[in-house]
Amino acid sequence: MNSGTSSPGAGMGDDTDLYELLNITKGASKAEIKKAYHKAALSSHPDKVPDEQRAEADIRFKAISKAYEILSDDDTRAMYDQHGMAAFEKGGGANGFSGAGPDLDDILAQMFGGGAGGGGGPFAGMAGGAGGPGRGRKTKGKNEMQQYEVTLEELYKGKTTKFASTKNVVCSHCHGSGGKEKAKAKECETCKGRGMSTRLRPVGPGLVTQETVPCNTCSGRGKFYADKDKCKRCKGVRTIKQKKILELYIPRGSRQGEKIVLAGEADQDPDDEEPGDIIFELVEEPHKLFNRAGADLQAELEISLSEALTGFNRVVLTHLDGRGLSLNISQPSGKVLRPDEVLKIAGEGMPLKRSDARGDLYLTISIVFPEDGWLTSQEEVKKVREVLPKPEAPETAPELVDEVLFESVDDMEAFGAGSGDPRAGTEWEDDEEGVEGAQCAQQ
Ligand SMILES: [Zn+2]
Ligand SMILES: [Zn+2]
Repeated sequence: MNSGTSSPGAGMGDDTDLYELLNITKGASKAEIKKAYHKAALSSHPDKVPDEQRAEADIRFKAISKAYEILSDDDTRAMYDQHGMAAFEKGGGANGFSGAGPDLDDILAQMFGGGAGGGGGPFAGMAGGAGGPGRGRKTKGKNEMQQYEVTLEELYKGKTTKFASTKNVVCSHCHGSGGKEKAKAKECETCKGRGMSTRLRPVGPGLVTQETVPCNTCSGRGKFYADKDKCKRCKGVRTIKQKKILELYIPRGSRQGEKIVLAGEADQDPDDEEPGDIIFELVEEPHKLFNRAGADLQAELEISLSEALTGFNRVVLTHLDGRGLSLNISQPSGKVLRPDEVLKIAGEGMPLKRSDARGDLYLTISIVFPEDGWLTSQEEVKKVREVLPKPEAPETAPELVDEVLFESVDDMEAFGAGSGDPRAGTEWEDDEEGVEGAQCAQQ
């Protein structure tokens, strides 16, 4: 590359070839792109060049990173191959990528839509931004992302819900012009009707780049109506608020994170060819009985010691559709259930979408032992000993025997406490708490 002049365009201009920038051919594989990027990034890293070349290296480094971002993703690479850098420009500005160019988030937002998510009730904050003003070309409007909380019961059975959505629709009175029928819009004096103004933005030490932004006065449209000429219905805003009942259908078996698209139901904007979509992302609420992984379910099955040893025939849990599930284990010759043992019940997991198949249900056995003092007499003790298997006598008995006392403690916390030994009691806790402990220790 040239040395000497450091124009912002040195890194990446309109006609920059991203493949050339990374020194690869158009048919390069993903691995080749990655390798070329590492090589180019290393040689252009601003930390690795003399001071006087730093600004230039900085720009080149950013351009290389951007080229990699675009070419390493199949979708953005396809966009680039088809349209060149024009595919990634906003508002038709000639800034290319050097400083004022969009970042990958913008590119992704253009491709897949973006917007506010999270927080609030299921439908709170739904009025996402419907595209910035002043875009030079007609496009599809921005999508509105929204999280939607669903219970496991709803995901098991499927759910259809109706809700009222308030959205901007193009004013039918002025057909989105914002003006009265015969009125003419005035040219904006601030931007001379261009809709855009330029400003300088620093991009590095002693270096500025010219940036094109939508004009504030006319919201990037280049013209506006005088108050007396404004449309009576929308007051020049060009859109009006409208309430609409929408239906959201959640197929049974849907999973956490899945998206349900209501096509074209986002805010309308007169500058868009078509409105964006409302997209709901499913958030599965935790369930008090069941854990879910994919199409499988897991639950704890609590049984008494007597049931563990002698069997039972009863409803062990109420399923997500309200059905009781019954287990019949009869003795003699039936199964003895032990703590933490797992029973798999085939076909009682979550339904699979568009299918009659279901996942499996895993029941983890938990045994409730009798209270202390449940035996009230030596008679009873004898009875229980008689029915339970006899303990085997140890093969060799030690010569010296001490009878010891004990107390019951809650856990292993006191084991080796304060000794600094990594095998001490707190290390027995699960990983999550261990990490927390480590964080506390650092503070
Ligand atoms: Zn109007
Ligand atoms: Zn203007």
